Amino acid sequence: MSEPEESTKRTRPCPYCGASMVHRHCEYVCPHHGVVFDCSDPFYG
Ligand SMILES: [Zn+2]
Repeated sequence: MSEPEESTKRTRPCPYCGASMVHRHCEYVCPHHGVVFDCSDPFYG
């Protein structure tokens, strides 16, 4: 089962593992850690 990548943008590396996170809606999602940042996080952006 592959992740759809066309509707998402890879933005910044995960602060924990360095994997490229996906910016999805209001969240940054690490493929290993799940949601790392969201809109309410001061690091979001
Ligand atoms: Zn990670």
